[in-house]
Amino acid sequence: MLELRPNCECCDRDLPPESQEAMICSFECTFCRSCATITLGGKCPNCGGELSRRPIRPAEKLAKFPASTQRKLKATGCAKAA
Ligand SMILES: [Zn+2]
Ligand SMILES: [Zn+2]
Repeated sequence: MLELRPNCECCDRDLPPESQEAMICSFECTFCRSCATITLGGKCPNCGGELSRRPIRPAEKLAKFPASTQRKLKATGCAKAA
């Protein structure tokens, strides 16, 4: 099950579970759409994997399986893709 992390690891923008802007890799490193596409070039900076849009969990499921509230932020920030 996805954790549905609450923020972008690069810019710390809020990414609520219903956000269409959340992008994740297979390990669920989580980024906003602009960091994922512009800064990172569609590639996860932690594992090198592909970033795709995070699926939206239906609201009635969120009540039973709530999203994570643990914010994760890259201490070094995100480097621009070469
Ligand atoms: Zn971001
Ligand atoms: Zn990753």
